[in-house]
Amino acid sequence: MSDHEFDLFVIGGGSGGVRAARMSAAHGAKVAMAEEFRVGGTCVIRGCVPKKLLIYGAHFAEDLKDAKRFGWKVPDCGFDWAMLRDNVLAEVDRLEGLYQNTLDSHGVQSFHQRAIVVGPNEVELADGSRHTARLILIATGARPVIPRCPGAEHGITSNEVFHLETIPHRVVIAGGGYIANEFAGIFNELGAKVTIVNRGADILRGYDESVRDRLLQISIKKGIDYRFHAAFQKVEKEGGALLVHTTGQEPIETDVLLFATGRRPNSEGLGLEALGVEIDQLGAIKVDEDNRSCVGSIFAVGDVTNRVQLTPVAVREGHAFADSQFGGNPRRVDYGCIPSAVFSHPPIASVGLTEAEAKDRYGTVKIYTSDFRPMKNVLAGRDERSLYKMICDASTDRVIGLHMIGPDAPEILQAAAVAVKAGLSKRQFDDTVALHPTMSEELVLLK
Ligand code: FAD
Repeated sequence: MSDHEFDLFVIGGGSGGVRAARMSAAHGAKVAMAEEFRVGGTCVIRGCVPKKLLIYGAHFAEDLKDAKRFGWKVPDCGFDWAMLRDNVLAEVDRLEGLYQNTLDSHGVQSFHQRAIVVGPNEVELADGSRHTARLILIATGARPVIPRCPGAEHGITSNEVFHLETIPHRVVIAGGGYIANEFAGIFNELGAKVTIVNRGADILRGYDESVRDRLLQISIKKGIDYRFHAAFQKVEKEGGALLVHTTGQEPIETDVLLFATGRRPNSEGLGLEALGVEIDQLGAIKVDEDNRSCVGSIFAVGDVTNRVQLTPVAVREGHAFADSQFGGNPRRVDYGCIPSAVFSHPPIASVGLTEAEAKDRYGTVKIYTSDFRPMKNVLAGRDERSLYKMICDASTDRVIGLHMIGPDAPEILQAAAVAVKAGLSKRQFDDTVALHPTMSEELVLLK
C-alpha cells in the first residue's frame, strides 16, 4: 500500500499527459490529473486538429478552381470564414468532451486548475489544496515564443489564430518553420496577401533541401512573399493596421502579424528548480530514456522535454511511461525514423535522413528522384510539379531517407515509412508492382 493519496499525479492534460494518465489508470494505478486550460492540450485545442481542419477548408479554393477543368459548372463561390471557424471550434469542443470522458471512464480524478510541484511527492493546486503521489509526471507541453521587440504585443500566435473575427486582407507571418508555412498556405488560399518574414536564409530547416526549395518556388508562384535575413526591430500600430519594421527591408503594412517563431518548453514556475530538477538552457526538463528526471519520483514526457515536439511522440512517451511504471512492461520509445509532415499547399512529408545528413554520415549515398506533374494537375492546368526523393546507403542499398512534396504526400509517406523503418532496400521497393495510376507508384519506379 502506498502512503500517498495517489499513485500518480499528472500535470498537464495534453497528448502525453492524457495518454499516461489513462493507461496508468487502466493498469490499476490511482491517478489524478491537473489541467489549467482545456483537456486535450495543444494538439486538440489549438494545434494539429483545428489546423488540419483549416487546411482542408482552405484547399477547397484550389479544388473549386480545378473543378471547372473537370467539367463542373462552378458558380461564383463565396467563402464564409465565420462558418468554417465556428464549425472547427465546435469539433474541438466535441473532442475535448471525448478526452474528458475517457479520463472519467478510467477513473482518473481531474482537477481543472493549475498545479505546481512543492515536494518530490507533493503537488499544490491553484486553490491552495495539496495532494501527494508516489510519482509525479510533468506533461506541461510548450508555448509560442515571441521575439523581444517594441510593439511585439500587437502580434498574435497560433494560440489566437483560430479565433480571428475575419480573414485579414494582409498577414505577416514571422518564422520559417512548419507552423509558419502551414498558416501561409491557409491564409493565401483564403485570399489574404501573405508575407513570410524570416530571420535566417531558409525555410523549414531540418527538411531536405530539394523539397524545401520546391515548396518555396511553388509558394512564390502562388503569391506568397518571402523576406529573408529580416530580424524584427519594432511593430507600430497605425489606426487599424500594423507597420512591421525589420532589418534590411522596407517596413511592411499588415492587418495581422502572426508569430510562428518557435515553441519553448513550459517548465517555468512549476517549482522544479527548487527541488533540484535539472532544466536545460532552452527550458527543457532533462530526463533519461525512461522519462525520469534527476529527482527519482518526478518524470516528464512530451514537448516539455523538447526531444521531438510532435503529438505521436508525446503519446508514445506517455504510454511507455505508464507501461513501465504501472503495467509491469518496462519499455522505451524508439526515436529512429520518425516521419513528419508540413501541411503546406502542397504538403511535404519526410522520414529518415536528408541528403546532406546522409552524406555526412555515410559518405557515399545513392539518390533516386521522380520529378513529375501529377495527372490531376495536368488536366486542371495546374503547373505544379511533385518531387519524390529516395536516399540509399550505397553499400547496402538500404533506404535511409525518403522526402516528398506533392498532393497527399503525408498520407502516402506514412505507409512508406513502415518500409524505411523496417530497413528495406531500394530493390525491395522496386520488387513491388506499381499500383497504377497513382502518384505513390512513383515510389517503386524511382530512377
Ligand atoms: P500539450 O499538448 O501542449 O499539453 C500540455 C498541457 O499542459 C496543456 O493543455 C496546458 O494547458 C497544460 N499545462 C501547462 N502547465 C500546466 C500547469 N502548471 N498545470 C496544469 N496544466 C498545465 N504535432 C504533430 O504531431 N502534428 C501536427 O500537425 C502538429 N501541428 C501543430 C500545429 C500547431 C499550431 C501547434 C502549436 C502544434 C502542433 N503540433 C503538431 C505539436 C503538438 O501539438 C505537440 O507536440 C503536442 O501537443 C505535445 O503534447 P504534450 O502533451 O507534450 O503537450
